[in-house]
This record gives sequence, C-alpha cells and structure tokens, in this order.
Amino acid sequence: MKFYIEPLGCVKNQVDAETIISNLNAAGAELSENPDEADLVIVNSCGFIEEAKQESINTVIGFRRDYPDKKIILSGCLAQRYQEELRRELIEADAVFGNSRLDDITALAFSVTGAERGISRRAETERIKLLSLPGSAYVKIAEGCDNRCSFCAIPLIRGGLVSRSIDDIVSECRGLLKRGVRELCLVAQDLASYGAGTSESLPGLLSALSALDSDFWVRLLYLHPDHFPFKILETIASDKRFLPYFDIPFQHASPSLLRAMNRRGGAEEYLDLIARIRAAVPDSVIRSTFLTGFPGETYTDFDILLDFQDAARMDWLGVFVFSREDGVPAYSFKNRVSKKTARERKTILETRQTPITETRMDRFIGRRMRALVEEKLDAFYLGRLFCQAPEVDGALVIESAHPLQLGAFVDGIITGRAGFDLRMLPAPTSGFTYAPR
Ligand code: SF4
Repeated sequence: MKFYIEPLGCVKNQVDAETIISNLNAAGAELSENPDEADLVIVNSCGFIEEAKQESINTVIGFRRDYPDKKIILSGCLAQRYQEELRRELIEADAVFGNSRLDDITALAFSVTGAERGISRRAETERIKLLSLPGSAYVKIAEGCDNRCSFCAIPLIRGGLVSRSIDDIVSECRGLLKRGVRELCLVAQDLASYGAGTSESLPGLLSALSALDSDFWVRLLYLHPDHFPFKILETIASDKRFLPYFDIPFQHASPSLLRAMNRRGGAEEYLDLIARIRAAVPDSVIRSTFLTGFPGETYTDFDILLDFQDAARMDWLGVFVFSREDGVPAYSFKNRVSKKTARERKTILETRQTPITETRMDRFIGRRMRALVEEKLDAFYLGRLFCQAPEVDGALVIESAHPLQLGAFVDGIITGRAGFDLRMLPAPTSGFTYAPR
C-alpha cells in the first residue's frame, strides 16, 4: 500500500507526521512523495486557530476533488479536537483519526484501503523519514500543556503535560546524531515546564545531552517566560553546542491583559528576564511572539506593548491576531477588539520590528561563524547560523566556489546582510573559533 502525507500545522505536528510515516512503514506500507501514486492520502491537520482549521478542511476537500477514488484520512489536531462532528460532516474524508494514539494509524490505514498488511517489522522507534531540511530534526520532549492560557485550545487537543524520560530523549538524540543529524531542535508546547511533577528537568536534560561526544547544535523552541529555567544558562554559557537562542513567547507586556490571558509577568519582569539572559550569555538571540486584539486590549495596553518592544529590542518577533476559539475561557470574554484594529496593531508591531531585527543581525557582520548548510540553489547555498531558527527567521546565503555538503556544518565569515538574510563566505580551514563567547 502506498501512502502520501500532507503535514500541516506546527513542528510538533510535524513530529507526529514523521511518526505516522514510521508506523506505516513498519507495517509494510510505502511512503510516496507524490499523491498521484498513492492509494491513501493522509492530511495531518492543525486545529489551533480558525485559519488553520479552515486550511485543513480545504486541503481534504481539495484532495477529494483531485482524487475522487483515493482513500483519505484526516489525522492531527483538528481531527482530535472535533472527531465526532467531522466524522458526521466531513464526508470527503473516509476516516477521522485523532492524535492521541499514533500507533493506531496502521490498523486504520489498512482497513480503510483494504490493502494486505506487509510483513510487520518491529514498530519503528526511530522516525525513518525526517521532514526537516538536511541536518536538522525536531525532538518532541513532552506532550500537552498545563498552563491553560485563556486563549489557547491546545490543552483541549493535546491534554495535560506529559514529559518523556531523559533517557528516552537522549537515546533518540544519539540515534539521530548517528544518522548525520547536526541540529537537534527540542520542542514541546512549553519546554520550560518539561519534567514538571517528575524528577526530570530541562537543565537535567541539557546536561545529559552535553555528555554526548559529538559535534551538534541543540536549539530550544517555546520557553514559557513565567517559569524560565535559569539553570539552563550555565550549560549554554559553557558548552557552545547549546545555542544561545531563546524562543520565549511573551504574548503581551501589559500586566492586566496577561492576567486575563491566565499568564503572569509583565513588561518589567520580562525586561528583567531578557537582561539576565543577555548578562549570562552576551550574544543571546531572543525570539518572541505577540498576540494582538485579545478581548479588553486598550490603547494603553497596546502602548505598553510598543514600549516593551522598543526596550526589549528582540532579534526576531512574530505577531498573531487573537482568534476567538470555542471551548476556551477567552471565547466569552467581553470588550472584544475588532479584527480591523487587531490587524492594524499587528502591522504596526511588525513595521517597528523590521529595523530592530536588521540592526540586531548587523552585529554578526565581519564575524567568523559556523553555519548549517541546508540547500543548494543555482550558484549558492542556503543555510542557517545559530541565530536563525528553521522556517521562521531569516536565512543565510553561502557563496561558495567549492561544493558543500548538505546537512553539514561549514565555517566562514559573515560578509553582509540583505533584509533579514545574512551572507557568508566559507573559510573552512582557518581555525574556526565560535564567535559569540
Ligand atoms: S503555554 Fe502555549 S500551548 Fe500552553 S496553553 Fe499557553 S499558549 Fe497554549
């Protein structure tokens, strides 16, 4: 049986899609990169906010239109969140499969297609196919979330926090490194909560990973600011393989609005957090996200956010408009902000962030740095530096007269910037020192 998978949504959902591929492969099914050749199409959906939900449904309808005779399974977060309704109403899908028990996809896929199961091999613990660019892999260290932010539907979909054991994660990372992966992006709904209620902790995990004897990058994505684990700064300050890249979604800076979001903190606490990180690791890169248009957001709240943006001078910023999601507390909050105002505030923040990001990236020009080579495009390569996370930040243009290996590290000089992208001239053999510390 040949299957094609359409991975939608966030990187945590990507890890699920990779796990589905491995599970089906272990049962003798073959992954097809082209839906034309597949017997089964799996749409691994996102159910986080309105736009993403609509995109997932349109994707299923699109496949049904293009492939009237193929079998289609809707999996992922949208399927998990609205199983019963979708089973009843989304007639374009032959089956709806939530993401709470990914092992069960195999039985469903073979029953939906009526295909003969191949010789079952032991269930794959390793994800045989990584959907990231060469050299990089996401490692999901926990599932679910206990923070219960009042605007967020993820706990409805993924449930409460469940952390994997450090041994389990380290063994997966060891396997990935053996396969040539160089960058390990640790992800969860909230990395900072990893191990809560258990003997495990994020500092403990980093020190266990630091015992691995190979050259790699560890990147941390999604650290909730209200319980930032400061002890990780020791490992990051002393071991250059742990990147001084901090993805901390502040969402807002107005204390009263953050309370309504069921979050603590505020501009003062968050500026103090950023100052402590930069003091511990001077060349730290800070990425964050802001939410505009949350019910009750006043002009004063927005001014507080603008002042915070100016004072924080973060390297990267993503801005999202509040989505009124059923089933979460904020759905019934009063004083709603119009979409128009919310979008205007998003545009104002993004416009003000551009010169901040450009200036922040300029500090790397002239430095000797290490890059991960990801793609070959015509006369140059694309890659990333430690200060550039996959998919969300600017890229690195590598101008090399020599062929470079995709998925490998290369050392070189940063020669300039164009917009959010930096340029590098490789200088592989000249005794590289890792510039930031
Ligand atoms: S921490 Fe993130 S995933 Fe958890 S409830 Fe808040 S926004 Fe949602």
